Amino acid sequence: MTFNAALDSISTYEAGKPIELVVREFGIKEDEIIKLASNENPLGASPKALQSIIKNAPNIYLYPDDSMFALKESLSQHFQVSTNEIIIGAGSDQIIEFCIHAKANENSKILMAKTTFAMYEIYSKAVGAKVIRTPGEVHNLAEFLEYYNTYHPSIIFLCVPNNPLGDCLDRVDIYKFLKQINEDTLVIIDGAYQEYAKAKDNDKNIDPKELIKSFPNAIYLGTFSKAYGLGGMRIGYGIAEKSIIKALSKLRPPFNVTTLSLLAALEALKDQEHIQKSLQNNLEQMPYFEAFAKEQGFDYIPSYTNFITYLLKEIDSTQISDFLLQRGVIIRNLSSYGLNAIRITIGTKEQNQKFFALFHHFLSQR
Ligand SMILES: *Cc1c(COP(=O)(O)O)cnc(C)c1O
Repeated sequence: MTFNAALDSISTYEAGKPIELVVREFGIKEDEIIKLASNENPLGASPKALQSIIKNAPNIYLYPDDSMFALKESLSQHFQVSTNEIIIGAGSDQIIEFCIHAKANENSKILMAKTTFAMYEIYSKAVGAKVIRTPGEVHNLAEFLEYYNTYHPSIIFLCVPNNPLGDCLDRVDIYKFLKQINEDTLVIIDGAYQEYAKAKDNDKNIDPKELIKSFPNAIYLGTFSKAYGLGGMRIGYGIAEKSIIKALSKLRPPFNVTTLSLLAALEALKDQEHIQKSLQNNLEQMPYFEAFAKEQGFDYIPSYTNFITYLLKEIDSTQISDFLLQRGVIIRNLSSYGLNAIRITIGTKEQNQKFFALFHHFLSQR
């Protein structure tokens, strides 16, 4: 069978390996496996979110509330924006897809950083749009501006902070950049790790309300998958001026987010204490990863997220990833990005110590 020719240029997204795979392939017990591969919250979801899921499970024979009233109200209060400036998706991934479908086609160009979230490219190519990438390894707004002026893209992606590298632009620089962008260009500010960035440095903090008031052509994306610990529930949101939300909403399938996901997100958002605890763990543990890299003599990118990327030199990223995987520690090999690098999610103290011990073991064998 032949398929849409656009698919020929797309390579399938490689997600972090699931725990089940390591159980199957290496016979390691499930509770001995440590997953530091997909930037999930190592403390798990808020206990209040879990209770809500259990309590409401009997209602799953009913379709969800398609207006998503309760969660929209809660997000509206949290961010001080109106409910018609919010859209909710099955992960913020789905909102990325809506943005591209709403704005781009085979004649469009979409501008993004050289190494950034892989789904931007996949959705762009699916509509036949041309992907343009800035040349520098990390986000560089001078390059973005130059490429914007040369290529006139219809969409610009800024990942703030950036996955998979951890680099993060400053708010003031983003605002200066946005002032020079035509109002018909949609600028997507992907804030999947914003909770971590602003906990570390307030200069990185993007306030969605302020953003969309100053720049009606910008959309802010947030997710419950990372700091909020709900990766398995698939829920995220977009915040933008209401005409953008109205356009994106035309593409939203009915009941795109499940009943239990909506309720879990509502409780998770309320439980800011759990978020604080999670951010605290991250701030405490990150320096150990930096110290380890310095000790071993490889480079890392200072990270504003809940992961760190090691740029390896003599060590091969596939070798170390496989070595760890066979011993029950799952990390992310960035070889598919053309880098000899690994991305490690910051885990709990115990998880991280196991990672460091195995890494030492690997090095001592060479
Ligand atoms: C994880 C992630 C997302 C979205 O994840 P969902 O689970 O689909 O909400 C979006 N952007 C970046 C950069 C991410 O790392």
